[in-house]
Amino acid sequence: MRLLPVLLNLCLVLFLYACQEASAASPEATAPASGASSTERPEYALVIHGGAGTILKENMTDERAAAITAAMNAAMDAGEQVLQQGGSAADAVEATIWVMEDSPYFNSGKGAVFTNAGINELDASFMNGADQNAGAVGGVTNLKHPISAARAVMEKSEHVLLTGKGAEEFAAGQGLEVVDPSYFYTEERYQSLQRALEGEKVEQEKIDVDKKHGTVGCVALDKDGNLAAGTSTGGMTNKRYNRLGDSPIIGAGTYADNATCGVSCTGWGEFFIRYAVAYDVHARMAYAGSSLQEAADAVIHQTLVEKGGTGGLIALDARGNVAMPFNTPGMYRGYLKAGGEREIRFYEE
Ligand code: ASP
Repeated sequence: MRLLPVLLNLCLVLFLYACQEASAASPEATAPASGASSTERPEYALVIHGGAGTILKENMTDERAAAITAAMNAAMDAGEQVLQQGGSAADAVEATIWVMEDSPYFNSGKGAVFTNAGINELDASFMNGADQNAGAVGGVTNLKHPISAARAVMEKSEHVLLTGKGAEEFAAGQGLEVVDPSYFYTEERYQSLQRALEGEKVEQEKIDVDKKHGTVGCVALDKDGNLAAGTSTGGMTNKRYNRLGDSPIIGAGTYADNATCGVSCTGWGEFFIRYAVAYDVHARMAYAGSSLQEAADAVIHQTLVEKGGTGGLIALDARGNVAMPFNTPGMYRGYLKAGGEREIRFYEE
């Protein structure tokens, strides 16, 4: 008779073990490697940045803050519409970045900054998390949407990175919109260049006296569990002409792998190239089992801070976890998840 409770206990233990095994096998219930991360994957998610830098409340007017918030919401709406209708992460990233490239408030497309030669040279990159297919363009001067050119290089060429005239001709051949370089002239960015040139004369900050990095980026997760990441920029004010930053460099400014995360960076590009920032976030997750937040924080708050690199990044993992660390006073950033969760922030918490 004593055997009965023992047997019952044994059955209970076996039952609990079976439940645990079953839930571990289901992708919906698999917990991420570590860290305080969510266990339920949202149907879709999207995260954006509009650049990091000296973004301070005291320098911001209510009107400007409202306009930037509206532009970020419009960009996120465009991406969410794609994802809601079951579209791909890549389509969502492209749709989102188009809106930001069309806005004068961000340093990409229309709002691109000027080189030391007084022209606008734009860079962009794109990567799919499913197969590590990637594309990028650097130093283009007449493409309205460099992000689409980057995606076209990824999808329609056998190359990863095209620059200058070759990139422009390729994009035009793909039917992408070509504009006169004067389209990228904005008074605000031109005045930033003048201030930078003045600063150069008095041997101060040579590159970017405004210390604002306005690059835009987006990472999306679609209902199939695919990640895509894209980044688009005018670079840094007063950069030497023909200089390329991290934004068109896969592994530096952009990276995506469904097994880990998608990343888009903004900041002092030379540092992001030297420390392979976007790839490093992926690598810490892949090799060290770090959570998304741990990996992203380590790169931005340790590696870059130790070396003097300023900036931030956005990252999204395949479970829909979001990380948006930066080591500057602010970063335009926002995210949304299926179900209505949405947030936009500018400053430090
Ligand atoms: N990372 C960009 C570059 O170095 C600049 C930025 O993020 O604003 O070109």
